[in-house]
Amino acid sequence: MPDDPDRMPQLDVLVVGAGISGIHLLHRLRSLGFRVLVVEAGGDLGGTWYWNRYPGARCDVESLVYSYSWSDELQQSWHWTERYAPQPEILAYLEHVADRFDLRRDMRFSTRVTTAAWDEAASAWTVATDAGDELRCRFLIMATGCLSVPRLPEIDGLERFRGDVHPTALWPHQPVDFTGRRVAVVGTGSSGVQVVPEVAREAAELYVLQRTPAFSVPSWNGPLDPAVERDVKAHYAERRALARETAGGNPWHERPQSVFDATPEERQAEFEARYRVGGFFLHSAYNDLFTDPEANEIVSDFVRAKIRERVADPDTGEQLCPYDYPLATKRMCIDTGYYEAFNRPNVRLVDLRRTPIVEVTEHGIRLGGDAPQRLELDALILATGFDAMTGALQAVDLRGRDGRSLREKWAAGPRTYLGLAHAGFPNLFTITGPSSPSVLSNVMVSIEQHVELVATILCHLRDRGLTSIEPTAEAEDAWVEHHRALGDASLYPRANSWYMGANVPGKPRVLLPYVGGVGRYRRICERIVANDFAGFVLRGPHGRELAVVPAGAFA
Ligand code: NAP
Repeated sequence: MPDDPDRMPQLDVLVVGAGISGIHLLHRLRSLGFRVLVVEAGGDLGGTWYWNRYPGARCDVESLVYSYSWSDELQQSWHWTERYAPQPEILAYLEHVADRFDLRRDMRFSTRVTTAAWDEAASAWTVATDAGDELRCRFLIMATGCLSVPRLPEIDGLERFRGDVHPTALWPHQPVDFTGRRVAVVGTGSSGVQVVPEVAREAAELYVLQRTPAFSVPSWNGPLDPAVERDVKAHYAERRALARETAGGNPWHERPQSVFDATPEERQAEFEARYRVGGFFLHSAYNDLFTDPEANEIVSDFVRAKIRERVADPDTGEQLCPYDYPLATKRMCIDTGYYEAFNRPNVRLVDLRRTPIVEVTEHGIRLGGDAPQRLELDALILATGFDAMTGALQAVDLRGRDGRSLREKWAAGPRTYLGLAHAGFPNLFTITGPSSPSVLSNVMVSIEQHVELVATILCHLRDRGLTSIEPTAEAEDAWVEHHRALGDASLYPRANSWYMGANVPGKPRVLLPYVGGVGRYRRICERIVANDFAGFVLRGPHGRELAVVPAGAFA
């Protein structure tokens, strides 16, 4: 009964999530004339930047790059105060965007989507929320973020602890005062590396509980230089265009040179110069750093030497050096005073490989191993990561054609077409989904590309009176294989990282982000669109199916 008015969707598009993707989707699709609603679990918009309010939280991508490119007035008028924007400023920016473009009226907060089921007869999704809504939409877009389901550690006795427990990703909205307190931070990934120097300034005693050391390089953050701001704003269009063509989505060229074509002195000079610039600039020094283990070892050695230089006590410095995975196969950290924090008398590194946590007690943590001891604590900070990329998608009971669930389909790891679309799940899109460049890029660039692609698809369907789109199983299989082959040829599988799903017990060990780079990925998507949406089945009312163009090779 496809024409039953009760079953016609009241919305064209339901967007799940009011973070950077959801905000952009709402603006873009509404301006194209679609009826759009955004549903958000948080109490307000902002996504990552709404939840992660821990001291020191800031973006590792420079402010002038980590910002929307789709409104020149917006990018010209907004002023960032620092080279790397702190969380409150990014949140203020997103709030400003929502107000400036009148987006809040189509956002519903404190509402979590629980189930979504495809209704084949009506070519629509029926979506339920924990607020008791039943929403019907033609297109369902999951803009739920790659790092939005915090993972708390399974440590014996954690619930017994009488002090305060603060997961970095669920930080209170009021500042937490650690002055004079005894604090432990568990976890030394990007969040831990940012929170440590801040808490070190206040706490009486700070224990940093490290299981795996991070590779971190300085951000050299500071007030944004007005001359830089003027120059970037004068050349925004070219810079944005360049970022879209590179592998990492940043506005600088990646050098087409092997590290082995440079002399040791030349390499050292190149690494030094890039280290002085700071951040991810080091990544693109040579083109084989992430494909050749020996090349990677050279840059890893460089960063380890820098870590040792920054830490006064040689033993502590050595314990902070990572040796068991290639640089960047776990996300490299960008810090502001992380290693220097260990030079303070109130900060102590606890190497959990030597002295593992036995249990949390009412008053602290008991460590075992070769030097058993008790840490008396007032507060615990958990910087222990996320169920990345698939967690938020699998948290919703998503049912496609014939009631098949996405969880079932992904039992051995995610299978997608382009990370965006899903065989058996018509009209479902996942922004920066698994097997798209997403977290291996400046995610702003990847989000904007997915939003534009979805807008192109929706307009195409509407203009031709079509009602649904979904990839063929063959196209999806081919994409999964292409993604796997590139991943296997990279160094990423050598680390037990969240990129590999290795941080969540029982999660399939599959490389999640696409390693082909945003430029290449964009060209593949453009060819697919130009080639009559190759690999997709498009259907009209009453199930009429258009001829499918095979996906072909993804060169
Ligand atoms: P993460 O990189 O997954 O780090 C989690 C840390 O917790 C790791 O050091 C991990 O050790 C440790 N850990 C987990 N369970 C533990 C346990 N039971 N006992 C002891 N240690 C435990 O998480 P994250 O730091 O939140 O960062 C996640 C991602 O978010 C980053 O890679 C980045 O992409 C993004 N992020 C970005 C920014 C930014 O742009 N500035 C800031 C924060 C986060 P093992 O390594 O041994 O598992």
